[in-house]
Amino acid sequence: MHTWIKIDQNSDFSIYNLPFGIFSESDNVKRVGVAIGDTVLDVYAAYELGIFKDLKFDIRVLESDYLNDFIALGKSTTVKVRTYIQSELCNTNSVLKSHPSVFIKQNEVQMHLPVKVGDYTDFYSSIEHATNIGTMFRDPDNALLPNWKHLPVGYHGRASSIIVSGENVHRPKGQVVLGPNTEPIFQPSARVDFELEMGFIVGKSTKLGESVSTDAADNYIFGKVLFNDWSARDIQKWEYVPLGPFLAKSFASSMSPWVVTLEALEPFKIDGPQQEPAVLPYLDFKGPKNYDIHLEVAIQPKNCIETVVSQSNFKYMYWNMNQQLAHHTVNGCNLNVGDLMASGTISGKNPNSYGSMLELSWAGSKPVELNEGGARKFIQDNDTVIMRGHCQKGAIRVGFGTVKSTLLKAN
Ligand code: MN
Repeated sequence: MHTWIKIDQNSDFSIYNLPFGIFSESDNVKRVGVAIGDTVLDVYAAYELGIFKDLKFDIRVLESDYLNDFIALGKSTTVKVRTYIQSELCNTNSVLKSHPSVFIKQNEVQMHLPVKVGDYTDFYSSIEHATNIGTMFRDPDNALLPNWKHLPVGYHGRASSIIVSGENVHRPKGQVVLGPNTEPIFQPSARVDFELEMGFIVGKSTKLGESVSTDAADNYIFGKVLFNDWSARDIQKWEYVPLGPFLAKSFASSMSPWVVTLEALEPFKIDGPQQEPAVLPYLDFKGPKNYDIHLEVAIQPKNCIETVVSQSNFKYMYWNMNQQLAHHTVNGCNLNVGDLMASGTISGKNPNSYGSMLELSWAGSKPVELNEGGARKFIQDNDTVIMRGHCQKGAIRVGFGTVKSTLLKAN
C-alpha cells in the first residue's frame, strides 16, 4: 500500500493502522478522528466531502463526545469507513488531497476519552503475572489457585474513574496495615503501582441470556487500547480478602486515546501458549487468537529523562480475548457497546518483562535503578508513567501511541 501522506517509517499511525479516537480543536467541539502519521483526519469533514456517500449513515455519529454511536453502527459500516479512508489516502486524485484542512496536526488537538465505558471488567490472564503474585504472597510451589487454568479469572472494575492519557492521578488515601497484628491506619498509599495492560472495546451488544462463542467473539470486539490500571498495593493487601480488589484499583485507570481496530491487528495474529490441562468445550477455540504486540513501560521523574523499566508482549497472554468474552457471557451476562475488558497485568518470563513495580521490585525488595532520579520500589509523586505498544511485521507497523499519566501528591 502506498499513501500520498508523508509518514515517518517509525510512526505508529501508518496507512495500515487508521485507529479511531475523539479529538477537539480550540472550538471544543468533539469529533471522530483517525490518526495518520502525525496528523488527525477529521472524519466528520471527510464525510462532508462525500467519501462515505455509499454507506448511508447519519453524520451526527461523527460529531459526538464518544465513539459509542459510531461503533454501534456495526462492523458492516465501521470496517468500510476505515477501508474507504485507506483507499482515499492511497488515491492521488482523492478529494481529501485537495482539502488539506481536513488534516490537523496531532500536537494541535486535544484528545479525549474515546469511549463512554458502561462496564469495565479486568481479567488476570497472564500466567507469568499470576504466578509471580502467587509466589510472593502465597506459596511458591502452588502459586496458581486451583481455578486459574480452568477459567479466565476476572472481576468487575469501576468505569467512572477511567481517564484518558494526559490526565493525571492523585495518590489515593485509604486503610493500610503496616505490620503483623497491628491495627489499620488511614494514610496516603505508600505503594502506588502501574499495571501494564491492554483493553478491548466491545463493539456489539448482546441481550441478557445470550452467550458469545469463541468463534463469534471477533465480531464483538471493536478494537484495542493501552491501559494502565493504577493500583495501590498496600490498600489492596488489606482489603482484598475475600471479595477481591476494591478501592485499591478504583481510584483511576488510564486509557490511550486511539482505538486500534481488530482488523488492523489481523496481520499480527499468532498462537498463544499451550493450554494444559485442556479447557472445557465452551472455552475451546480454533486458529491463532493471540496477537504479537510489543509493549513497554517507562518512568519519567519530574525534570528527568525517562527510563524504560519493562518490555513485555501481549502474546504472552495465557487466556485470549475470545475466551475472555466467551467466559464473560457464558452465564448470559449481556454486553453493551463501549464496555471495556482489560487483560490484567501483562508479564513475560524474564524479570525485565514484568508488567508492574510489584513484580519488577519484587514487593519492594529490589529497587529498580532509573537513569535519572534515583531508584524506585513503587511510583513516587510527580513520576510520569508512560506505556507504549506497537506491532511490526517487515515494513508494516501498527502502533497504539502512548498512555501517559503523572502521579500527583495526595489531595
Ligand atoms: Mn488490573
